[in-house]
Amino acid sequence: MPAPFPHGLIRKEVRDLPDYNAGLALDRFKATYGIDCLAKLDSNESPLGPSPRAIKAMQEAATGVARYPDAANSALRGTIASALGTDTSRVIIGNGSEDLIGALFRAIIRPQDHVVTICPSFGLHEFGALTFGATVTKVPFNADWTFPIDGLCEALRSKPRVLIFSSPSNPAGPAISEQEFRAVIAQTDPATLICFDEAYVEFIEPGERFDALGILAETGQPSIVLRTFSKAYGLAGARIGYGIASDPLLIKALMKTRNPFGVNAMAAAAAAEALKDHAHLARVVDLATTERKRVSAALEAKGYPCAPTQTNFVFFDTHAPARDLAEHLRGKGVLIKGWQEAPFEHWARVTIGSRAENDIFLDALPDSVTKAQV
Ligand SMILES: *Cc1c(COP(=O)(O)O)cnc(C)c1O
Repeated sequence: MPAPFPHGLIRKEVRDLPDYNAGLALDRFKATYGIDCLAKLDSNESPLGPSPRAIKAMQEAATGVARYPDAANSALRGTIASALGTDTSRVIIGNGSEDLIGALFRAIIRPQDHVVTICPSFGLHEFGALTFGATVTKVPFNADWTFPIDGLCEALRSKPRVLIFSSPSNPAGPAISEQEFRAVIAQTDPATLICFDEAYVEFIEPGERFDALGILAETGQPSIVLRTFSKAYGLAGARIGYGIASDPLLIKALMKTRNPFGVNAMAAAAAAEALKDHAHLARVVDLATTERKRVSAALEAKGYPCAPTQTNFVFFDTHAPARDLAEHLRGKGVLIKGWQEAPFEHWARVTIGSRAENDIFLDALPDSVTKAQV
């Protein structure tokens, strides 16, 4: 019998991490449940997919895959920089923005460093920091689902190494206001790096939008803003995202800690085309904003209170272990994400799909336990 694998070979920080609560791929769903998935609403993917122009660009780029891609991603960085009115030296492309979160922690975090985020949180904001031996403070959202500005300012007094959070928040849904954002920055030590994750920025109501990049630039705070092509642009499977840093020095560091060829040529070509298709993006955003209101109202009517949302998903109170509700729905061909982070194990996140998918979800969803009692 072979000797057991020596546990000590794996660093303790890594052994102690929970497994990542990833969504279930469609082929695995079928293999596990023996039925087709009718509504895949667990990973915030776009029901309209990418722009057809992006698909065409990937097909064309496929003919060139014998060659390594441009490690500097010059073309796409240039396109993004000019769209945002910034310099190419301040832009970095990643194999998804999660790749950049990892690169950031590798470049910045030392054992015992302190990282502040909010709760409920995007898992990678926390796990990436824990991997490198940091301690993470998670500041809970206010009870009315406004951002916990007082709590964040209090936590920032200890001058953490990094402040990282998403707005609009995954999984909660609300977006921080400009005034709140300014209040947080005002309390951030000049030596704290702010990582502001805007994975869902495209979905914010026009009246609520503000220029976070501009505000960060005004203050001179060390920062990086993260964006992705996985959500509104429908390219989750291509794996591509980007970051805009306050200083080219940070980009230089991240270029060393990410994989040099982590961004494949097809994804880079697709992203450049996706950015140009404004009409496609408008359709995606329009569908999500209309349907999130309808789905939230229907959830409330069935007895499930919802957090407000500026995203393509809704976070709702299941009143019972969300894992059980998610499993029940899987039996009916519907995938949602039961939240596993304490104290939100009674909350679930459902992605806004097509109107038909959302109806399948709502039809499969039983009335909530509290509603049934009334
Ligand atoms: C989806 C998501 C990302 C990462 O997406 P990638 O596919 O890695 O680009 C990053 N942050 C948040 C908050 C997300 O929800």
